[in-house]
Amino acid sequence: MKYGLVGFSGKMGKEIIEVFSEYCHQLVAKFDRTHREVQEKPDIILDFSSPEALKETVELSKKFLCPAVIGTTNLKEQDISMLNELSALVPVVYSSNFSVGINVIKNILESFKLEFSEWDIEIIEFHHRKKKDAPSGTALFLSESLGNVPIHSIRAGGIFGDHKILFANEGEVIELSHRAMSRKIFALGALKAAEFAISTKASFYTFRDVLSKKR
Ligand code: NAD
Repeated sequence: MKYGLVGFSGKMGKEIIEVFSEYCHQLVAKFDRTHREVQEKPDIILDFSSPEALKETVELSKKFLCPAVIGTTNLKEQDISMLNELSALVPVVYSSNFSVGINVIKNILESFKLEFSEWDIEIIEFHHRKKKDAPSGTALFLSESLGNVPIHSIRAGGIFGDHKILFANEGEVIELSHRAMSRKIFALGALKAAEFAISTKASFYTFRDVLSKKR
């Protein structure tokens, strides 16, 4: 596929370019804070940048009438509404976490949350020191399924993304944790989302829909 990438020079952008080129997909349009370049019409636009870029990404998706895969975190309600509007025209996949494991944990939490109604639940998330948002979009995503439990954020070194969910009662502790071993997992997830998006109908999808192949 021919793809456009907003945030091509960032940490995730570089990872996406590497993974997509392994699968012979061609970068034909690239955007970042200071550079805009369109060589050909893309089949899909991916955005792993910053919430400020979203408006332009939506315009690009409308202009080229191509699906959008959005991984940028820290989006506000009005940003999500903008994506919802766009999804009337083209398929839109939005997720604050494109790893398979986090989405499995989300399913586990939703299935077992009643078992923990009497327990204290806290989420602790660890990310690299340059991460701009806190708490992470993933921690918020997990917290939602538990009724918005407290989140503790640690920013240190080069950690790609660790999330721990701690359940405690008077005498027992259960921990559920997920560690991203590299950024490649998110790029592989974005690729799965892109392949899904170019072959489906216009609507708003999450990565969980992609994993369960909702069409
Ligand atoms: P980064 O700071 O390394 O890169 C940001 C990129 O966005 C740069 O290329 C920068 O030039 C570009 N950018 C910033 N503002 C822009 C604007 N107004 N217009 C166009 N381009 C702009 O950040 P990163 O670590 O690559 O992360 C990027 C985003 O992806 C963050 O929101 C991060 O939380 C998110 N992320 C999502 C997932 C996921 O699975 N959904 C995984 C990792 C990171």
